[in-house]
Amino acid sequence: MSAVTVTLHTPYDGDYARHGVEFSSVHFSAPAGTDPDWLELSLRVIPGCATLVEFEFDPNTGDGRFILLDSEVCPGDYRLKGPAPYALEVDARIQHNGRQYGQILTHIETDMWHALCGAEQSGAITGRRENEPVTCPACRERWQRCQVYGHADFENLNWPKKAPSSV
Ligand SMILES: [Zn+2]
Repeated sequence: MSAVTVTLHTPYDGDYARHGVEFSSVHFSAPAGTDPDWLELSLRVIPGCATLVEFEFDPNTGDGRFILLDSEVCPGDYRLKGPAPYALEVDARIQHNGRQYGQILTHIETDMWHALCGAEQSGAITGRRENEPVTCPACRERWQRCQVYGHADFENLNWPKKAPSSV
């Protein structure tokens, strides 16, 4: 997809008492016909939106919303060029009896600062870079195994995603 401009409206602060957590609900407008999957991934590039949840978008009307649990975003127009793949560099080298084990590898980042293979749990993150080649064999293998899944394999999702509810 080519670049699209989305408008984020002023967030609505969620009801703390009712839901037990603070959150903000962000309504947005995007061009009708925009692919929802592309949009959900691309929105994560906007500062504050990396960990958005409960994404809903109706490609017929161009209206959507998502929820931010632990971050904030500035309302306004954003030009989205597409999802950006990030690679996480983790130094997993250790010294033992005078020998060095492990190495520095780059991994697929899933959540921000989290590698697909979980490498950050046993090493030190030394970098986070856009469009960096992935060198971790475990990340590659997991990515490859996921390729057999398509939309129809997710029982609890309605495709296309349902229209936004009025909150
Ligand atoms: Zn990895």
